[in-house]
Amino acid sequence: KEFPNSKAIIDSPKLKTITYFELLSDISKLSKIISSILKNMKKENENEEEEEEIRIIILCEKGYLVPLSMLSIWINNGISIPILPSLPLPEQSYMTINSETSLIICDSKNKLRAEELIKQVEKEGKKCEIKQIDLENVRNFKDDIIDLEGLKDLDGDKRAMMLFTSGTTGRPKGVVTRHSALAAQVSAVAEAWKWSQSDHLLHVLPLNHLHGIVVALLPTLWSGATVELWEKFDGPAIWKRWIPEDNQDPITMFFGVPTVYSRLIAAHSGLSPELQKTASKASSNLRLQVSGSAPLPESVKKTWEQPGGVGGGQILLERYGMTETGIIAGTGWEVEKRIKGHVGFPLKGVEIRLWDEESGKVITDREISGEVQVRGPPITKEYWRLPEVTEKEFQDGWFKTGDVGIYSSEFGAEGQLRILGRNSTDIIKSGGEKISAIEIERAILELEGMKDCAVVGVDDEEWGQVVSVCLVTSRSSVTVTDLRSELRNIIAPYKLPKKLKIYDGEIPRNNMGKVNKKKLVLEAFPPA
Ligand code: ATP
Ligand code: MG
Repeated sequence: KEFPNSKAIIDSPKLKTITYFELLSDISKLSKIISSILKNMKKENENEEEEEEIRIIILCEKGYLVPLSMLSIWINNGISIPILPSLPLPEQSYMTINSETSLIICDSKNKLRAEELIKQVEKEGKKCEIKQIDLENVRNFKDDIIDLEGLKDLDGDKRAMMLFTSGTTGRPKGVVTRHSALAAQVSAVAEAWKWSQSDHLLHVLPLNHLHGIVVALLPTLWSGATVELWEKFDGPAIWKRWIPEDNQDPITMFFGVPTVYSRLIAAHSGLSPELQKTASKASSNLRLQVSGSAPLPESVKKTWEQPGGVGGGQILLERYGMTETGIIAGTGWEVEKRIKGHVGFPLKGVEIRLWDEESGKVITDREISGEVQVRGPPITKEYWRLPEVTEKEFQDGWFKTGDVGIYSSEFGAEGQLRILGRNSTDIIKSGGEKISAIEIERAILELEGMKDCAVVGVDDEEWGQVVSVCLVTSRSSVTVTDLRSELRNIIAPYKLPKKLKIYDGEIPRNNMGKVNKKKLVLEAFPPA
């Protein structure tokens, strides 16, 4: 569709505006350019039967070329694979080889990197081509009629996108999403958050994960709204951008992972007292701010939501989802329902059940935990070239998320989902009890001077595992005895930590702000 009243994309740092009309015209051109490359490739490989959708990597700096390429690939029945230019070569070549990509679309800045990737592919005895693009050469392509029939005729059963998981628990897995699932994911988010043509999203997330693409970018285009793509995270600049200026459209929405909000809190303290006030006020005027991808620490939520203070009393909506499913749940529209520690209710089209592995039964009671399992049109069906994992995790129509959840009976949050963490690393089995690392992290971050922490289970002969803490603190010293005595009134005795490791700067995180706990535990508490 054309949305004459909104801009589609504003590309930063050049702040170049692309209207919906220009977007459609550019897609029409780029799709024809891609089509002719694919035709030539076909001619060369005439004998090879290719029944699967062709895989095409997008290796461009964050900006307009990414969505433009993505949509143009779809017209050509291809699978779009956006990968982050800043990832190290070995990770990119794993993704390129693993996805059996035939074409890399890159910008001038990433041409050399694309060539290096091709060399890796050739070492495996496979072929792959490069097409370097820039907006000017796309626009110079002679194309008299805008032809987007291909976009209207997209087949819901065809594969559309391959996104790699964040790699928090192991090697990133390629998740393949078909058009029908993608449409279900995108429309559910657009509906849940009442996206409209007058929305203007400030986008600071990377364009290679679910959050940046499926939760933020695509619902904007689906709704005919505007998205302002920022290449880099810049805390002070974000605060300033929220303050409306005469010549700029006001920002209405903002999304981040929890570390984005903690970095914004830090940036706020560096502003002048005058600017602090204006910026907090401006933040409170945004229509919606969302946090997701990892648990939101209570301390961050509290600082953000203080009336008149840092986020200006803006109550963050917390949402829970994953690459394989899109957004599963969100704390919802009504501000009163955005309750700490909860991720809310299922989104449209998503069915959630909690599964008890031991009894092989569905849990319906409140306050009894089980594995979160989901089904419905938004859920994907497969990992790329990982048939055993696909079979194991997508059993009997329900996708096993590997996360443990519980339905809350807390007043005001009744029936909302609470995430206790990943079964593999966040559920610590100690002395026959199951302990949620996330709940202990929340409790620790409430204590004075605690800046960041990650709780892990360390193998132990006597207890099975013991609760152990990696901590960043502004206090001059903290011992495990101090921690235990301060936590004693907040959490049950069997949950109290037994080991502590103090970190100086930061706890290591991946580019989605998540801690790889399998790695961390080995680094912080190496086996004797
Ligand atoms: P990998 O699957 O490669 O180990 P990953 O699971 O981190 O990486 P993603 O698909 O990006 O990759 O993240 C989904 C996971 O993030 C969920 O399974 C859940 O553990 C966590 N998560 C997402 N949102 C929230 C939230 N609001 N609260 C707690 N955990 C969350
Ligand atoms: Mg995962």
